[in-house]
Amino acid sequence: MKNTLPMIEVSGLHKQFRTPVVKEGRFAGIRTLFTREYRMKEAVKDISFSIQKGDFVGYIGPNGAGKSTTIKMLTGILHPSSGEVKINGINPHKHRRQVAKRLGVVFGQRSQLWWDLPVKDSYDILAHMYKVAPDEKEKRQGEMGELLDLKEFWLTPVRKLSLGQRMRADIAASMLHDPDVLFLDEPTIGLDVTAKRSIRGFLKKLNSEFGKTILLTTHDMDDIEQLCERVMVINHGQLSYEGTIENLRDKIGLPTLIRVTFHGTYQLPAPQDQCLPVELGLDAERTFQIVDAGSHEVHIEANRQQVKAMDILRMVSGWGEVADIHMEEPDFEDVIHRVY
Ligand code: ADP
Ligand code: MG
Repeated sequence: MKNTLPMIEVSGLHKQFRTPVVKEGRFAGIRTLFTREYRMKEAVKDISFSIQKGDFVGYIGPNGAGKSTTIKMLTGILHPSSGEVKINGINPHKHRRQVAKRLGVVFGQRSQLWWDLPVKDSYDILAHMYKVAPDEKEKRQGEMGELLDLKEFWLTPVRKLSLGQRMRADIAASMLHDPDVLFLDEPTIGLDVTAKRSIRGFLKKLNSEFGKTILLTTHDMDDIEQLCERVMVINHGQLSYEGTIENLRDKIGLPTLIRVTFHGTYQLPAPQDQCLPVELGLDAERTFQIVDAGSHEVHIEANRQQVKAMDILRMVSGWGEVADIHMEEPDFEDVIHRVY
């Protein structure tokens, strides 16, 4: 049984950014400087959620949805416009230092290591900043170094590392002070399959063996499927789904794309005569939909949990002489795009 202590609690979180309106045309730069018109951008609008100790949660959404802004507010880097964050019962904006000790943060796009220094030196500085005792540091550095295979580039300056090596070094660095909670903002971005595998394996271990609570932002749906029990979907600054991946699949209904090619022409029946749902006693809206109709080809989306392939074939045979029928099962990536 898992603990059910709320580790991260967020209620009514908002963030507005004030950005200058950029003028167009002649002397635009100068006019922008002097007129000072601003536009308010609401990056996060009324988000509430709760994450329990030991959870591994995926935070997904299209570009610009508000993921990084949320994470920055959770870690205390950004102040919310309104709403509240509590990490293990403590507000990171009122008690930033206290909370920082319990948090590890990794931004895939931006390293927290010192670019020109060997990895080892960055670790020394971080350990000093977080006041990690020397024996503690040695122990953790050894552990993480082993798991992430850091030895091969221990003395290499960060700028000379491959992206995969840098990300491994960054993730291990975020664990030096042994935080309870880990925020990862796109830790697998731009990585090859091998590097992704190594990082996923490590994150899995951090969660299942070390009991870390993890919130992960990613565009890689394999990350989500392999690592997260739960996902939260954010779109235009608002949560549009929260729950398990299975429920999300069910909710979306996973339509299968069926491409039917006819010999010569075909005749689509009028909607009321598209007999399949009626015959099966099903609701036409929910079972299949004609998404595209060309001169010799029809594309149908159908929910295969509700309709059998044979029934589809039977139905389309009534429309013309079927030359070929091809079914494409959707993958998780497509499911997600439907939510976006
Ligand atoms: P995501 O991480 O989901 O891609 P972000 O949280 O980075 O999205 O951004 C959400 C929205 O807020 C975007 O429209 C972005 O342009 C805007 N935004 C983010 N940071 C700032 C900032 N410092 N100033 C103004 N607008 C910002
Ligand atoms: Mg982002």
